[in-house]
Amino acid sequence: MSSTLFRNASLLDGSGAAPFRADVLVDGTRIVEVAHPGQLPSHIDAQTIDCEGATLMSGLIEPHTHLSFVDQATPEAFNTIPVEEHLLLTLKHAKLYLDSGYTACFSAAATKPRLDVVARNAIDRGEHPGPRLRAASVQFTVTGGVGDLRQMHLDPGEAMFTLPCDGPFEFRRAAREACREGVDVLKIVPSGDTSTPALPSLRTLMSDDEVAAVCEVARAHQKVVAAHARSAESVKMCVRNGVSVIYHATYADEEALDMLEAHKDSIFVAPALSVTITRLRDAGKFGLPSSDAMKKRVDTDLQSTIACMKSLKRRGVKVLPGGDYGFKWNPHGNNARDLTYFVELLGYTPMEVIVGATRWGGEIMGMGDELGLVRKGFLADMLLVDGDPLADLSILEDRNRLLAIMKGGVFHKAPEPGMAMKHRLRTAA
Ligand SMILES: [Zn+2]
Repeated sequence: MSSTLFRNASLLDGSGAAPFRADVLVDGTRIVEVAHPGQLPSHIDAQTIDCEGATLMSGLIEPHTHLSFVDQATPEAFNTIPVEEHLLLTLKHAKLYLDSGYTACFSAAATKPRLDVVARNAIDRGEHPGPRLRAASVQFTVTGGVGDLRQMHLDPGEAMFTLPCDGPFEFRRAAREACREGVDVLKIVPSGDTSTPALPSLRTLMSDDEVAAVCEVARAHQKVVAAHARSAESVKMCVRNGVSVIYHATYADEEALDMLEAHKDSIFVAPALSVTITRLRDAGKFGLPSSDAMKKRVDTDLQSTIACMKSLKRRGVKVLPGGDYGFKWNPHGNNARDLTYFVELLGYTPMEVIVGATRWGGEIMGMGDELGLVRKGFLADMLLVDGDPLADLSILEDRNRLLAIMKGGVFHKAPEPGMAMKHRLRTAA
């Protein structure tokens, strides 16, 4: 296996510690040394990168990914794509995430049952570039719930992007079937959403026994359950039953916030700010309803989300930056802007949000002991960044400022030849 030595980097290791000068040696897929400059032998048999002026950090991790959302305005448009073309688009997005510095993604639902699974397997076998992926099922929703696009007079065939289920029996069966197909994440939709005016965010749609049924299957198969949960009751139902990834938590009340705090060691919250902010700001340009009444509802969602996330931050709950990208008004590849939203809207420091996007990202991937930190023994998923993200987070949104992207010890984007030198003297001697 090849070795790479990053010399004299400003190391932002993801632990929350202030950056320090370091040499980092990668051998095979892992980081094997992190040392102060001068501590390692002057000649090591490795490709050596001179990192002067650049920051070395863990690759970013997106906790709310939909690789098979295709940057269209409405979910209805996702349905009309044949599965073959849809897989190609899913893989195209996978490469885009890696190009954008995201070396791992936790999926928040696929739009056809096997898209995530097949993409993950192709990436893992090295057949296609992409991030490490926790592959999700399609969303399981109730009849008439968010994502149930059926119409009484039309046969939906196999085109549904969300699977309607009713009662614990059907939810259990859907979850087991997804497990059989190899997903890592089971996705449920227990609440409404502002995008569907007939089913507002405050409405709770799944019942307790339905959530319990999916969680029971997840426990049996060692899978993770992730939930679109905006209403207070939906958040409580999720926590009660063992859902570990809660998206949005828009209207969590005091009791829900207390419950999240009580389970803060085992639960992750991701508000997905970007999809709400861009829905408010830009979606009208793409033909989505944007009357004053609609904008008011979306803004109410946003303001309530901000208040809830500030409370969760104070309570020490792990809140992760990720934005539900994949819509025309919120397209893939801009994911790092959620980090800036955390600073501007939620009061996070740049350091705190980088920890959320790296170290806690490793934890949500179920790999907290080997992913998300630049530390000896961890997987070598790293970015070499032109400048200091702590001084200017927007650097992470600019792909040109990502000088190098490494996943598992292999460069997806290699540094310019001027930064890399070969030192073979030790073996030559
Ligand atoms: Zn989503």
